[in-house]
Amino acid sequence: MSDQPLVEMRGLEKEFAGSKALRGVDIAFHRGEVHGLLGENGAGKSTLIKILTGVYAPTAGQILLDGSPVRIHSPLDARRHGLGAVYQDAELVASFTIGQNILLGNEPGHVVLSDRAIHDEAARILNEIGVALDPRRSAAGLSAAQMQLVTLATLFHRRYKLIVLDEPTARLSGVESEVLFRLIARLRGEGITIVYISHRLREVQEICDRATILRGGLVSATLERGEITEERVTQLMVDRSRTDLETYNDGHARPEVLLEIDGLQTDLLAPLSLTVRAGEVIGITGPVGGGMEQVAHALGGVTRHGGHLRLRGRAVDVADPVAARRAGIALIPEDRRKQALFPALSVADNICLPVLRSLRRLAMIGSREKLAFADGVMERLAVRPRNAAAQVRFFSGGNQQKVVIGKWMGTKASVYVFVEPTSGVDIGAIKEIYDIILHLARDGAAIIVVSSSLREILALSDRVLVIHDGALVSEAPKAAWTYDALLAVTMQGRHRRTA
Ligand code: ADP
Ligand code: MG
Repeated sequence: MSDQPLVEMRGLEKEFAGSKALRGVDIAFHRGEVHGLLGENGAGKSTLIKILTGVYAPTAGQILLDGSPVRIHSPLDARRHGLGAVYQDAELVASFTIGQNILLGNEPGHVVLSDRAIHDEAARILNEIGVALDPRRSAAGLSAAQMQLVTLATLFHRRYKLIVLDEPTARLSGVESEVLFRLIARLRGEGITIVYISHRLREVQEICDRATILRGGLVSATLERGEITEERVTQLMVDRSRTDLETYNDGHARPEVLLEIDGLQTDLLAPLSLTVRAGEVIGITGPVGGGMEQVAHALGGVTRHGGHLRLRGRAVDVADPVAARRAGIALIPEDRRKQALFPALSVADNICLPVLRSLRRLAMIGSREKLAFADGVMERLAVRPRNAAAQVRFFSGGNQQKVVIGKWMGTKASVYVFVEPTSGVDIGAIKEIYDIILHLARDGAAIIVVSSSLREILALSDRVLVIHDGALVSEAPKAAWTYDALLAVTMQGRHRRTA
């Protein structure tokens, strides 16, 4: 490690509509180090990375590359400087082979190489970094893990100096994670800097040379390898000025059991049993990709699963999303734009769709009726602007989320399953969404909130479950948890050891 950092960020600030995501961050990344980046939800990790990779412009501050100030105005600028990131859904050209992806990437036409030359060269690169994949294989059928490896090979080939990995093991098995860690070690050996964002403390301890902890938009500390202990990290992560956790839920659970989950399991979830009473809010947390999402996807009929469900004592089968909906289970997924809304349809159409159950019937019903019905829902949910005829895509994240919830309110579901209900939602709308969720509980619905935000889980839940590596590791009433205890349990587990 030389004294001159590869990248230095000084006094970095980023303001979003009046709120500061970064409040003067100083951080240095050295050549050939694996640098962990830790921090609770909303600490500013993604914002920092997006500035470094040219997605956002900073409000103030300076970025130095090899000691000289540089301007990074776009992802293209970042790429020219050899700075890049591998995101969870790594983007490869599906119609290309692995070799074409590595050599040509997404800029075909610049290089004129024979098919043979491309694949020979790709084989050499893959071999050099120890990735056992056939370069002639199509990128179309690759697993998430393989896509990451190919993307890393591509950045290696393009001589990137710094590569950011944001929660790279979230969707990987234990074996796949080990393969990734070996590749990271290889790249580090080539002098490449790796910035590694993760909530899994053991991974950070295993592969990082140093780790910086962000807290409330500021650097809390940078720790050397031996100093990265659970105790230190927890202490540095928790924002003491925000420990007065707000509780929104003062308890609406009724005696009657509404939902019984018996041995629910998927490929990535060990059998889970749980009973939820009417009006009860169950919070499920854990590392992203560690299995908590599986519970939601199984209940919503999105994922193949085993086990038995009973609603009000009656067996229900949720083989697919339609069956789940009919049974009275509403899944409000995280990626609402892709999974839950038709952005080009009006709010009224989106809200009326589940009630009418088909687009054909939607086209048949009078628009005045639809608008009136949707307007009533929008009023109750405080959707702004209150214009039921406007296309959903013109609304903010928070208001889109309310529209998704509105879709289900019309159907009078018995069980509401929320996944990351306030991710990408502006602060003003967060409290309103909490109010809506608790309103549903007060009306007697059973609620399950799956979230990586511990504050959110503690604010909303009657009972909290932590799922790690596909298994329930802890369950207790909300009152039994402190923020620190929950954070410690959430970070402790290791990625899955079995394939
Ligand atoms: P982390 O990645 O550590 O969870 P983020 O960088 O995503 O944190 O977010 C830091 C803060 O900035 C949060 O309060 C978040 O709500 C806010 N924020 C992030 N992106 C945006 C955006 N595009 N618009 C408004 N606020 C944002
Ligand atoms: Mg983030």
